[in-house]
Amino acid sequence: MPFHASRKRIEEASALVAGGVNSAFRLGIAPHPLVFTDADGPILTDLDGNRLIDYFLGMGPMLLGHRPAPVVEAARAQLDRSILVAGQTELEYAAARLLADLVPSAELVRFSVSGSEAVQAALRVARAVTGRSTVVKFEGHYHGWFDNVLWSVAPDPDEAGPVEAPVPVAGSAGQQPAVDVEVLPWNTPEPLAARLAAGDVAAVIMEPVMFNNAGILPRPGYLEAVRQACDATGTLLIFDEVITGFRVAPGGAQQLYGVTPDLTILGKALANGFPVAALVGRREPMSVLAGPVLHGGTYNTQSVAMAATLATLTEIAGGEPYRRIAATGGRLMEGLRKQFADAGVEAQVVGFPAVFQVRFDTGQPREYREALRADRAGYVRFAARLLAHGVRVLPRGTWFVSTAHEDGHVDQTLAAVRAVLAEGK
Ligand code: PMP
Repeated sequence: MPFHASRKRIEEASALVAGGVNSAFRLGIAPHPLVFTDADGPILTDLDGNRLIDYFLGMGPMLLGHRPAPVVEAARAQLDRSILVAGQTELEYAAARLLADLVPSAELVRFSVSGSEAVQAALRVARAVTGRSTVVKFEGHYHGWFDNVLWSVAPDPDEAGPVEAPVPVAGSAGQQPAVDVEVLPWNTPEPLAARLAAGDVAAVIMEPVMFNNAGILPRPGYLEAVRQACDATGTLLIFDEVITGFRVAPGGAQQLYGVTPDLTILGKALANGFPVAALVGRREPMSVLAGPVLHGGTYNTQSVAMAATLATLTEIAGGEPYRRIAATGGRLMEGLRKQFADAGVEAQVVGFPAVFQVRFDTGQPREYREALRADRAGYVRFAARLLAHGVRVLPRGTWFVSTAHEDGHVDQTLAAVRAVLAEGK
């Protein structure tokens, strides 16, 4: 497939828009960033007229596919009533009600625009409630692009210090020094329990399934052990479910694993592509938001985005999306495993039908450092070649599946994978 028109446009546009893109995560995708004209169902159309089966799904939000009718209709209808009111609407109360019904930790809700912002609100709440300042995060976990959490997201192991006591590594040039943030290895309870025992940590924040790097499931008992260590030391537990929320289960990883955090960040699939995120949590810590803790945002609960949120959550609450994706996504996972096995390629397909990770690796890593042994460069090449066969997957291995992916798309995808593997990995 040719991508010449995209390449030319990106080059031209780079004179006006930095790098030709508006997010760092859109840079560096081989063969070069693409320019799109349309997105519908599971299909993206690019400037060259290529029709690509999309497993980026907007980096995760489009659980119901691109432009699902109920969401589009709700958003369109709302445009006839209001765009932004800087006040309250019944829409946001209805969406909050559905959210609280779905997500176990959600007794109180606050909406914001992006996951990055909702993380900031969570950290502020945790610090205000505990009167402590230190936050513990884990190596390889991503919680948005702000200075205080963009630490050791994908560090070079040479810079990252010992596995059991990692050195925080900045994720960006120009980032403030690591203040009040410490980094620990994920999925082993002991280093965390030892650190929390000092009694000075405000909060522990984690992706309950490590999807931003490598796709690692929590080991049996790990989340429970973290919950216990937090309870024993008055530390708040924050689950960042921006990816796992609504994808691993309607109520997120907390529902699936039966471990309830104090605070939860939701985003992405919450509004099927509209810019909405939420901080939800237990009533007691969350109620500081009705008092001394400031959380603002001009665009919070923008009416059209809230109409989309309500429509999306209504679909999710009905349960049908999960039945559909369990069938198609499950078949895709199995099909990929078979294709790799048939081709003699050592690969792991790990996760859930709506979000899983493919790694060229011989086994299951326990945490970030172990995951580095995978053939990541080989996977980047595989993703680039798959794109040339009309299938768009993230070079870091995550696959998102929507209700709009049907058996025919799965078949086409598996045929493309077979063709790529036949060319040699
Ligand atoms: N947390 C996690 C786990 C994420 O995956 C992301 C985005 N990829 C964020 C936070 C940040 O969300 P946003 O991009 O909406 O700011």
